[in-house]
Amino acid sequence: MSALIKGETGEWEVIIGLEIHAQVISKAKLFSGAATAFGAEPNTQVSTVDAGFPGMLPVINGYCVEQAVKTGLGINGTVNPHSVFDRKNYFYADLPQGYQISQYQQPIVSGGSVLLDMPDGTTRTIGVTRLHMEQDAGKSLHDQHPSQSYIDLNRSGVALMEIVSEPDMRTAEEAGLYIKKLRSIMRYLGTCDGNMEEGSLRCDCNVSVRKPGGELGTRTETKNVNSVRYVMQAIEYEARRQVEVIEGGGTIKQETRLFDPGKGTTRAMRSKEHAHDYRYFPDPDLLPLEIEPAWIEGLRKGLPELPDERKARYIADYKLTPYDAGVLVAEQETAQFYETVAKGRDPKLASNWVTTELFGVLNRQRKAIQDSPVTAKALGGLIDLVSDGTINGRIAKEVFEAMVETGKEAAAIVEEKGLRQVSDTGAIEKAIAEVMAKNQDKVAEYRSGKEKLLGFFVGQTMKATGGKANPGVVNELLKKMLAP
Ligand code: ADP
Ligand code: MG
Repeated sequence: MSALIKGETGEWEVIIGLEIHAQVISKAKLFSGAATAFGAEPNTQVSTVDAGFPGMLPVINGYCVEQAVKTGLGINGTVNPHSVFDRKNYFYADLPQGYQISQYQQPIVSGGSVLLDMPDGTTRTIGVTRLHMEQDAGKSLHDQHPSQSYIDLNRSGVALMEIVSEPDMRTAEEAGLYIKKLRSIMRYLGTCDGNMEEGSLRCDCNVSVRKPGGELGTRTETKNVNSVRYVMQAIEYEARRQVEVIEGGGTIKQETRLFDPGKGTTRAMRSKEHAHDYRYFPDPDLLPLEIEPAWIEGLRKGLPELPDERKARYIADYKLTPYDAGVLVAEQETAQFYETVAKGRDPKLASNWVTTELFGVLNRQRKAIQDSPVTAKALGGLIDLVSDGTINGRIAKEVFEAMVETGKEAAAIVEEKGLRQVSDTGAIEKAIAEVMAKNQDKVAEYRSGKEKLLGFFVGQTMKATGGKANPGVVNELLKKMLAP
């Protein structure tokens, strides 16, 4: 995919910056003890703080702060020992306080970066401007009653991390990779489950276009897009729309837009507010957040191995290609599965089996690797049978399919179906002799110089032995027996 889009006046560069709202994994909300579980009955997880009752005071949840700090460290950001919570004032039916508690001038994390794993094996660095903490709003339900809207405050006050990127992305594909990578990092850290269908990860897409090398254009912001595919569609659509507007003599208004998943288009929602419209000011109910540097360092030491480090280890220790290593480390569960399969075995063979055969089955069955019909140990057992010559590579695929269907171990299937590799020269010679007798014309052609026919004979011999012959032995014997 080219980074530039073609318009009537030549090529245009697309500029993308993403704001991600990531729900913090925490049993309690940011400023109250109410529960956060997804899918609860409406308004059953609401404290008086979340409902904006008069006189109720927020108390910060230390665990949420810890989660935000860990995330900041995981994206190579600087954790600020001093940060401030502000009130962002606006009215919304599902925002009972009349303001959102957020961080404005002094966020908990400044700077950072996320590495994109490009399909060609290279990486690209995307800058992160900041990560700040804020509370989520409630939810208006417009589809429960013909003439009324209902309000569910379960989500009100849930802790969010807003992660703002620099305008460093240039294609929809890069935006997709960025979200996936950020999600992968947060899942490794256990700070956000990244579940976009449940709304724990939402994305605002800022898009503008410019002539390559020119000044940055005016951006639009498409709000609350809730799947990676939709983010990519929204960006593609928005970039083309902007090019058409500008080339048609119009100008882009800085505005907030909505994505329509049914049509794959965006439409204007409202003109963009400016920061000063929100009348930000430090929340008088909350003291500035002071974090001990020693505590930050303690959390840094306790961080798990993250995807980038794990990928580097796979490349160094297992000699995998950057692409394969990137695919295997993207989800912790996949990496764990792979490491079990690779242990004491050829790591490349293990990687091939996981990324091609196993992923194929998981895709087909729409299953996560945790629910794989073949366990890591069982797959390892199959690979061992290939490595020690019990079965050949082709039969192994057949055995694998049988493992998927029956849940049996590879060795049992091989015995049951009599699939052991035949390396016995006598049996193979006999099969070759039969194939040659049936194809005398081709034998003559081969002998008069058409050596390409070897492949045909290999195929026929394998077929005659039910695919079980040792391909190396077959090749060797064929060359000998076909020689003029
Ligand atoms: P706001 O609160 O107004 O949305 P933020 O600073 O929170 O502002 O976020 C701005 C987002 O827009 C960032 O992700 C930034 O990278 C992106 N951005 C800024 N300028 C441009 C531009 N010209 N084109 C595309 N994205 C941009
Ligand atoms: Mg914004």
